[in-house]
Amino acid sequence: MKLCIYTNAPELGNDIADVARIFYGQLDYAVYPLNEPAAGDAGLALRVSDEAAGQTRLVSATASGAVTGAEQAGYAEESDSLERKRVRKRTVKLAVYAILRRETGIQPPWGALTGIRPTRLIYQRMERGDTYEQALGWLRNSFDVTPEKLRLLKDIIQVQSTLPPPAHNQVELYVGIPFCVSRCAYCSFASGEIGSGKLVRPYVDALLYEIGRMKELLQEKDITVSTVYMGGGTPTSLPADEMGRLLEALRPLADGREFTVEAGRPDTIDREKLTLLRASGVTRISINPQTFHDETLERIGRRHTSAQTVKAYELARSLGFDDINMDLIAGLPGEDEGMFRESLDRISELKPDSLTVHSLAIKHASAMHLYNALLPDGRMTASMMSEADRAARALSLRPYYMYRQKYMAGALENVAYARAGAECVYNVRMMEETGHVLALGAGAISKRIAPSGGRIVRAPNVGNIEEYIRRVGEMCERKEALWNTDLNRSGEN
Ligand code: SF4
Repeated sequence: MKLCIYTNAPELGNDIADVARIFYGQLDYAVYPLNEPAAGDAGLALRVSDEAAGQTRLVSATASGAVTGAEQAGYAEESDSLERKRVRKRTVKLAVYAILRRETGIQPPWGALTGIRPTRLIYQRMERGDTYEQALGWLRNSFDVTPEKLRLLKDIIQVQSTLPPPAHNQVELYVGIPFCVSRCAYCSFASGEIGSGKLVRPYVDALLYEIGRMKELLQEKDITVSTVYMGGGTPTSLPADEMGRLLEALRPLADGREFTVEAGRPDTIDREKLTLLRASGVTRISINPQTFHDETLERIGRRHTSAQTVKAYELARSLGFDDINMDLIAGLPGEDEGMFRESLDRISELKPDSLTVHSLAIKHASAMHLYNALLPDGRMTASMMSEADRAARALSLRPYYMYRQKYMAGALENVAYARAGAECVYNVRMMEETGHVLALGAGAISKRIAPSGGRIVRAPNVGNIEEYIRRVGEMCERKEALWNTDLNRSGEN
C-alpha cells in the first residue's frame, strides 16, 4: 500500500509511517506539504498538522482513502527542547494511532508502541520513581498495550531483576564470524557464504591479532571480561582447525565465564567440533531448528533437515552440553498454526534449556519478499506466538528478554525463554544496553555506556570481510580510542 502524508511536520514523516505500518504492515510513503491537494488514487492519506493554540499546541490528524476519520490532541509546550521534541512526536503518533485503531477496528498487540525495546520504557519510568506496576499502567493507558503483552513485560522484568547487574570495570566480549554455509532466504546478517574458504584463514589471523591487542587493552585498563559470545553468521561453519585456533586464543579471557557459541546450523556441527567447544570452556550453544518441517526448511533455503537438528542436539547432550538454546520462527512461508504447533511439540519432547521464538521479520535486504503470497497473516502469527508462550511455560521456561524489529509479521516480537539459571546474561545486557561491549570481527560494534545518563558511545568495525582483514590495526585503534575517552567529559554520541 502507498501512504501519502500531508503535514507541516515533515521531519515526523517516518514516525507517522511507522504507526501506519502497525496496521498495514510494510508500506511505502511519501511526504507532501500540508495544504497540497490529495492525489486521487491514494491507498491511505494522512493529513497531520501541529499548530500553536495558546499555551498548548494542537495536533489535528485526518485519514482518508483506505480508512476515514479524524482525531485531535493537545499538549503543553515543554521548556526543555529535548522533552519538547519527544512530547510532540509522541502526541502526533498517538493521534494517528487513535484514528487508525478506531477506523480499522484492529487492536495491535503492542498498541501504539513502535520502538524495539518496550522494556526500556519501563526501566526509564522506574528510574524516575515509578514502581514497575505504575510503569506498566502508564504503558497500558498511554499506548494501548494489550494485557497479554503487559504480562510478558512484567514477567521479563521480574526475571531480569534476579540476574547479576553489569559492573563498570567489566565488558561483554563479542566475537563475530561472518561466514555461513549457505544463505537462508530471510537472513539479514552481515555474513557471506564460506564458499571456497579462501578468506577463512586470513580472517582468523586478523581476529587473533585483534584479540591479542584487546588483551593488552583490558590489562592496561584493568578491565575483566564478564561474558563471551561468539556469533555471526554461524561460527561453527569454520573448519575445526580454525575454530580451534580461535578458541585457544579466547580461552584465557573466557575461562570460567558464561561463554556462548552460536552453532545454529545443525549441518555445521559434528562430534569433533562439539568436543572442541566443550574442551574450550564453551558453556552454552544454540542449535536452531527454526521449524521441524523439511519442506519449509527447503523453501527458506536452509540446507538441512529436522532429523539433522535432532541428531546434532542429541550428540551435544551426549557430550555433556547442559545449556542448549533452540530458535523457532513463527510465520514462516507456507506454515499454519497446526504446523507451528507440531514444531512446538517437538521442542517439548527435546526440552532445550532455552527457547527463542522469533516472529518473522521481512527485511528489504533478504530475498523473503519472494514468498509474500505464502506468508501467514499477522493474526495467525500472533496466535502462533501465544501458542509458543504456552508451550515454553509448560516446559518451565520463563521469558527473560524480548525485542521487536521493524517489518515484523503482525507487529509482534521476538521472545527468549529459559529455565531458571539458563538465562543468557550476555543477551540481556545487549538487549537492554546495560553492559559495555568489546566487539571483535567484521561488522562488530563496540559500545561504552556513560556512567551517568546511560549515553552510549560506539566504535564500529568495518563490515566488509576483506576490508576488515586489511585494516584490523585501525579497528584496534578505534577501540583503544573509545576506551581512552573520558565519557563524563565527551559530548560524543
Ligand atoms: S543460518 Fe543464520 S547466519 Fe546463516 S544464512 Fe541462515 S540466518 Fe543467516
